[in-house]
Amino acid sequence: MQIGFIGLGNMGGPMAANLAAAGHDVAGFDPAGVTAEGVTSAASAEDAARGVDVVITMLPNGDILRSVAAQIIPVMAKGAVFLDCSTVDVTSARDVAAQAQDAGLSALDAPVSGGTGGAAGGTLTFMVGGDEAGFATASPLFEIMGQKAVHCGPSGNGQAAKICNNMILGTTMIVTCEAFALADKLGLDRQAMFDVVSTSSGYSWSMNAYCPAPGVGPKSPADNDYTPGFAAELMLKDLALAQQAAEAVNADTPLGTAARALYAQFVEEEDGRGRDFSAMLPRLAARSRS
Ligand code: NAD
Repeated sequence: MQIGFIGLGNMGGPMAANLAAAGHDVAGFDPAGVTAEGVTSAASAEDAARGVDVVITMLPNGDILRSVAAQIIPVMAKGAVFLDCSTVDVTSARDVAAQAQDAGLSALDAPVSGGTGGAAGGTLTFMVGGDEAGFATASPLFEIMGQKAVHCGPSGNGQAAKICNNMILGTTMIVTCEAFALADKLGLDRQAMFDVVSTSSGYSWSMNAYCPAPGVGPKSPADNDYTPGFAAELMLKDLALAQQAAEAVNADTPLGTAARALYAQFVEEEDGRGRDFSAMLPRLAARSRS
């Protein structure tokens, strides 16, 4: 396929390189001037998007997605697929999809989980919203860039799935860290706590696969001085998107609200920026109740 790839950052660069390595003809654009292996450099977003079968965007936020969409939708070929893999707010995803569909395009929102390791290794999971025909066209590309793609329903539902998942992840990580910090003060050994919880009803991905306690459980960013991994500021972004969505539909999310406030404090007022989101454990362990 002929593919335009816009946004060649930490995630987009390796995703574009994987598509090129699989034999697709990929033209990439990024205003930062970065390139990706095997990808032809386009001079503008419009040049990357003009006449191709699929345009993939991997951008920082919904406002940038809206501005790129306004540039590229008018030059895309009728029937082409606009595939946005960025994590953005549900409203921006739905608005951009509606504009694309009005212009005779197929639109998919397909945020990912798996991080930069998954992008480089081609093992991302895609959560996809949008029409069936677009999903069928994009499926071979999902197979190259990832290991799984779940069609979650109409436009915006990929973003909805992503923020619901990450709201669970953020809150679960916090409470797992709280429990370790409490266990420390109760004189309960961290390894013993892991051995019990990881095989009991308190188990979770945060505990079992990404244990926030160094030297306990499988290898995780905690074993590398909390170098991300998944940075606390990216978790904050996703928790903020979850709250934005919850406000828009009047959903009561007390723990999601608290998790957002805690990560905001950690990232914006403390030393959380640039650390893995599981560094909530040393933060909590160093504090007392008041
Ligand atoms: P990044 O900042 O490394 O890359 C974004 C790229 O977009 C940058 O290279 C930037 O120059 C480019 N860009 C900015 N404005 C642009 C414009 N107007 N036109 C074209 N390109 C533009 O970010 P990233 O880590 O690659 O993340 C991209 C998206 O993926 C984000 O929405 C993020 O939330 C999501 N995501 C990231 C991770 C992760 O672990 N990094 C995991 C899952 C999802």
